[in-house]
Amino acid sequence: MTSGDEVVVALDVGGTGMKCALVRPDGATVHAERHATDAARGPEAVVGTILDVAEGLAGKARADGRTPVACGIAVPGVVDEARGVAVWSANVGFRDVPLRDLARERLGLPTALGHDVRVGGLAEARLGAGRDAGHVLFVAIGTGIAAAHVVDGSAAVGAHGAAGEIGHILVRPDGPPCGCGRPGCLEAVASASAIGRRYAELAGTPATAAEVADRAADGEPLAGRVWREAVEALADGLATGQALFDVATIVIGGGLAQAGPRLFDPLRTALHERLTFHREPRLVAAALGDEAGCLGAALLALDTLAKESR
Ligand SMILES: [Zn+2]
Repeated sequence: MTSGDEVVVALDVGGTGMKCALVRPDGATVHAERHATDAARGPEAVVGTILDVAEGLAGKARADGRTPVACGIAVPGVVDEARGVAVWSANVGFRDVPLRDLARERLGLPTALGHDVRVGGLAEARLGAGRDAGHVLFVAIGTGIAAAHVVDGSAAVGAHGAAGEIGHILVRPDGPPCGCGRPGCLEAVASASAIGRRYAELAGTPATAAEVADRAADGEPLAGRVWREAVEALADGLATGQALFDVATIVIGGGLAQAGPRLFDPLRTALHERLTFHREPRLVAAALGDEAGCLGAALLALDTLAKESR
């Protein structure tokens, strides 16, 4: 389908920064750059930067003797992948931005628009920790909790572009309020931010989730309790995910995965305890780090290119 000098222009747009790259069809990154999103400037200025950066990357590819063949852009929030529209984003401010068509017009290349976590899951399932698993649930745990269900290399989008919102599974009906407006969602109990908040509430002194994990490992009872509660809630959420999706591998990414065995050991045990007839999935840490979104945007662009040339 593609020859050796072909590359995809890939951008992963976050609330604070954009990870951008030229990626070969085999998933190898040949050039990477980062830019500030500076979302405070407003969505129009951010869109302008995205288009300028994408155009610059395509130019860089040509200057290096490569051929840009497609463009993939990943954004947070609610994304209508079929129409290529960034429907809504809390941290970038998008409201119904037809980003795919804007980029296609500017670059003159087939372009795909994807959701940051879904394409991240796509990359982990095809190139990273879920490689060869077929059925993968990618769960990103940071300030919130989001997920992507990937089957045979393609991430489910949902009827309204909102599949994979595992962070809003109700795990503690009498729990703390969630940003979505309801109490007791998984991300209100077990996201990295929620862990820090809960510890601060009980201890009267602020701490990050990583610090809570450290203190729990050092035997501090309060930190141990907060960590245990979060792990139990996560296991409840993952058990629900497994009941729904029956995956071979659950890949945990995002900041909380950095806790390593302090997270994975108790989480594996807690998940095991909750599963009855369901087969236990492999529970592994993400392998691609913060490059997953950018690689996933490239994969989505290549998928689009393959569809369009069919
Ligand atoms: Zn919620």
